[in-house]
Amino acid sequence: EHVARLIAAGEVVSRPLDVVRELVDNALDAGATRIEVDLDGGGLTLVQVRDNGGGIPAAFVELAPLRHATSKLAPDTGAALHVTTLGFRGEALWAAAQAGELQLVTRPAAQVGACELLACGDEVQVGRTSAPAGTTVTVRRLFARLPARLRTQAPPATEAREVTALLGRYVLHWPGLHWRLCVDGEVRLTHAPADHRGAVASVYGPLNANRVLAVAQAGVRGVVSRPELTRPRRDRMHFSVNGRPVQAPPELERAVIEGYGELLPAGAAPLCVLDLTVGPDEHNPNVHPAKQVVALADLGGVAAAVRAAVQGALSRHPL
Ligand code: ADP
Ligand code: MG
Repeated sequence: EHVARLIAAGEVVSRPLDVVRELVDNALDAGATRIEVDLDGGGLTLVQVRDNGGGIPAAFVELAPLRHATSKLAPDTGAALHVTTLGFRGEALWAAAQAGELQLVTRPAAQVGACELLACGDEVQVGRTSAPAGTTVTVRRLFARLPARLRTQAPPATEAREVTALLGRYVLHWPGLHWRLCVDGEVRLTHAPADHRGAVASVYGPLNANRVLAVAQAGVRGVVSRPELTRPRRDRMHFSVNGRPVQAPPELERAVIEGYGELLPAGAAPLCVLDLTVGPDEHNPNVHPAKQVVALADLGGVAAAVRAAVQGALSRHPL
């Protein structure tokens, strides 16, 4: 039973990157406008995410690390509110407490004092403290009780690089927030509220930012690079679906490239950041536990819209 639980937790969070993504999703769901992430020892020593979002009211703090505890289901139908929230399974904090040591300090703005929760395995303690409005979640010693999991982890520098790339994707898709990432105490990425172009500047530098064009069509918003700013790999093509950064289906990457027509050299790929908005029934975020893979009901239709949006952006700007 105990071992089964540890294994199940290890499926929800299999590496520090998963913890970062789940905690950042929670901060976004809480309506934060400032999100700060700390990563020590590749996340195995510490992952910390601080936000200034809505916080958890004192009465509910104890529930947060329970399995399947979520405040994001419609109370009447139990249907996931996943149109507007990134989380809805109620497993992330639970898994973090099982796989490591979870500390949560939280205060809704209207509440006088803050609550502190410590959870390690199934041991949970709650106390009072003082803190700014918002939530700070810290996960320490991830996988210390799961030696088999610990052995298969990437070297800290590799994990830190991937977390930096992940945070870069959040910045690109949520450019209106304050973001900050520190790795072993050193600032790796900062961003102050801006538009998509500003986000490209934060992640890829001002030179790249000067060479992107706005894409603004219903359901497809963001930026694409001018044709000269291309490279042979598709590693700078970024998509989100309803706010969630996703691993793009190859069809969407191809649609962007087709939108350039003859303007792109064969085999080249542009830099792009495209935020797609689809109806609640049009996609299923559930196909992969890490939720980065989306299933779009009408992939062909979305691809056509993307192609047209890119064509539109390029034709509006004389090159
Ligand atoms: P889920 O996001 O699927 O609901 P989690 O385990 O990630 O499940 O979180 C459990 C619950 O704890 C959330 O539903 C939410 O009510 C609360 N919570 C977690 N993180 C935060 C946060 N940063 N700010 C406010 N509430 C939070
Ligand atoms: Mg969550």
